[in-house]
Amino acid sequence: FDNIDGVIWYDGRLVPWKEANVHLLTHGLHYASCVFEGERAYGGRVFRSTAHSERLKASANILDFEIPFSVAEIDAAKQLAIDANNLPDGYLRPIAWRGSEMMSVSAPNNTIHLAIAAWQWPSYFDPAERLKGIRMDLAEYRRPDPRTIPALAKASGLYMICTISKHKAERKGYADAMMLDWEGRVAECTGANIFFVQGGKLHTPIADCFLAGITRATVIDLARRRGIEVIERRIMPEELDGFAECFITGTAAEVTPVSEIAAWRFIPGAISEQLMRDYAVEVQPKGRQAAA
Ligand code: PMP
Repeated sequence: FDNIDGVIWYDGRLVPWKEANVHLLTHGLHYASCVFEGERAYGGRVFRSTAHSERLKASANILDFEIPFSVAEIDAAKQLAIDANNLPDGYLRPIAWRGSEMMSVSAPNNTIHLAIAAWQWPSYFDPAERLKGIRMDLAEYRRPDPRTIPALAKASGLYMICTISKHKAERKGYADAMMLDWEGRVAECTGANIFFVQGGKLHTPIADCFLAGITRATVIDLARRRGIEVIERRIMPEELDGFAECFITGTAAEVTPVSEIAAWRFIPGAISEQLMRDYAVEVQPKGRQAAA
């Protein structure tokens, strides 16, 4: 991924992709003093850009640093990264980290850097293909107790268990893994939130020890606009037997139906399909939606 022809927005200017480097003694690399976002542009516009920029700033504050750019400046920088690389349908990766001046755990005066990379990632929206659903494993690692780690930040350090869990699931032939929380309740997936359908209503875990996804919020809003009731509650894994449909939500996953989680089975149905289609319309820049 370090050899693409393109430009990366790096601390306020566009630099060639291959020159967007950090020093080995970067605090963020050693101690995970690092926060990021994952976003998508559709039709040349970054979807819910400001919400993502605000979350990035908030994640940095949780890790005790301040990104030296405003939300408006970050929004403009993301748009520049999309435009400069000519990526109407692209994925964006803003990342902020503590620099390399000091190498002790305490490094309050290290420079805070911000970079924004963007690359091509069209949404292959084929409803029939998606409705087959993905197969997921049950992860061994659990989302940690929020008293042990800043669980609500989109912080790099929280992804260590996601990578391990996803690798393990993929080795077994699954697409992803569902994670429980520290108390054994259903939490989320390694990079997406999770919803279930029962009796025409949506059920989703309360996001108090994992990332409250921006896609999750969008889908809750879309469902309510359709008159579908959304219940945020504690969900125990034993309950999965009683759910008819299941889908995951995330910037990358968008709305993706699930057919299996370990021994549990789901049949992607009308509500998953409806929300999948509604989301595909919602992400298009205003003015294009009528045509979508
Ligand atoms: N949970 C985790 C662990 C994630 O990495 C993501 C993707 N950012 C999500 C949930 C979904 O968040 P969003 O809808 O904001 O992309």
